[in-house]
Amino acid sequence: MDAASPTDTMRLSGWGRYPAVESRVARPEKRDALQAVLEGDDQPVIARGAGRSYGDAALLNSGGATVLTDRLNRMLAFDPDTGVLRAEAGVRLREILEVFVPRGWFLPVTPGTKEVTLGGAVAFDIHGKNHHRDGGISNFVHEVELLKADGGKVTCSVEQNAELFWATVSGAGLIGIITEVALELRPIETAYVAKRTLKADDLGDAFALFEEHEPDYLYSVAWIDCLASGDSLGRSHLMFGRHATPDDLTSKQRQDPLGYEPDHLASLPFDLPEGVLNEHTVKAFNKLYYAHQRKRDKRTVVGIDPFFYPLDAIDDWNRMYGESGFVQFQCVLPMEESYDGLEEILSQVQESGLASFLAVLKRMGPPDGGLLTFPTKGYTLALDIPRRDGLEDLLRDLHETVARRGGRVYLAKDAYLRPDTFREMYPALEEWLEVKRRVDPENRFTSAQAQRLGIEP
Ligand SMILES: Cc1cc2nc3c(=O)[nH]c(=O)nc-3n(C[C@H](O)[C@H](O)[C@H](O)COP(=O)(O)OP(=O)(O)OC[C@H]3O[C@@H](n4cnc5c(N)ncnc54)[C@H](O)[C@@H]3O)c2cc1C
Repeated sequence: MDAASPTDTMRLSGWGRYPAVESRVARPEKRDALQAVLEGDDQPVIARGAGRSYGDAALLNSGGATVLTDRLNRMLAFDPDTGVLRAEAGVRLREILEVFVPRGWFLPVTPGTKEVTLGGAVAFDIHGKNHHRDGGISNFVHEVELLKADGGKVTCSVEQNAELFWATVSGAGLIGIITEVALELRPIETAYVAKRTLKADDLGDAFALFEEHEPDYLYSVAWIDCLASGDSLGRSHLMFGRHATPDDLTSKQRQDPLGYEPDHLASLPFDLPEGVLNEHTVKAFNKLYYAHQRKRDKRTVVGIDPFFYPLDAIDDWNRMYGESGFVQFQCVLPMEESYDGLEEILSQVQESGLASFLAVLKRMGPPDGGLLTFPTKGYTLALDIPRRDGLEDLLRDLHETVARRGGRVYLAKDAYLRPDTFREMYPALEEWLEVKRRVDPENRFTSAQAQRLGIEP
């Protein structure tokens, strides 16, 4: 397909494979051709990066046009004095790593997969395992070039057109199409991470370990067994990491300290039959995983991929959930509500009988500047749940718990939130809408998610 204007139709979905919609797609190769998409007709438009958001944020039904940005993937310039890379929005984080890790640079913030684009990363102001220290990726974005609904281009940053910048960052593609990003990379001495793994027997233990060890490490995350109950509720493996120095390396690793060989183990060649992942199989897996590490405290030096992107080693792992797909529920709770709130949420998940593989627990720093910012100072929990009977009821209960406790659900993962709960969770929506009304009064940029949540000027 080589179309700047939307001629072809494709069936698209997010990473959770639900919902899936027939979409008219345009796949321009040059940034200038994006304007032709906007001028071609007056149908609604949404940009799509790598489709790694889980739900319907990068989807639009065939009444509109979905702009695939994967061919707008040129790296444009790099300044080794400042570490600032300018690149088109369709460049994937993987491509940046492949070029820059061997030159001593890493991403300032990275999600749990490197298969996302710069545009998608900025549109949700993604966070990583260092959010409590560094905040979201927007803190490292020097500039964004944006294509607006009127076909004009504008550059925005913290200093220039700041309102537009903060509405675009975390604005889920609804302010305009990000065409170019200037991102400050992080200097590294090696392509390795000094990692420490600790076992926590329950949630209280996990919180205490986070607090004790976070000052010594840039990155932290816990894999939590969300089917463990009673005295073991919240038992987890905590992982801390910092970029290794040459002194941390073995003599073999020291021979090529910046050598970066991306991990690629296997791919899932077919969908697993429905029902393979049930409460019993998942419980057994989690128990094994937890028991696998015998030592309570383990230190190793590992490569970038196994530390940051263990799931990328298996292509299309989302097929494991079968054709019906799955959702990822990710919420953040303010610090003072985190302990009780997480206990309540874990109990709700257990009572539902809907199994989830090991879930992820992270600490977050204060909200970032984006008007629809997700983070808040506290704990964030993310868990995958297969789409089965009872899912909708469970999610409604979880969303209610999160809202009641002053928390938020992450829109990058969402496919089920309702408009009223969304508004409760995102109090700066009105302020964001004021910017939207100014730059996109006709609501040219919309998505299936925006329509579900009633987001319109
Ligand atoms: C395994 C896995 C782990 C993850 N871990 C994390 C994590 O740790 N932290 C985190 O924050 N997120 C995480 N995510 C979510 C992911 O980082 C975000 O959903 C990200 O937005 C996906 O980028 P994408 O390029 O795939 O964008 P898409 O999914 O294609 O689109 C996402 C949003 O960005 C908008 N968009 C895309 N490109 C543009 C553009 N050029 N201009 C304007 N808007 C655009 C779309 O309209 C849509 O609203 C994870 C996802 C997966 C699958």
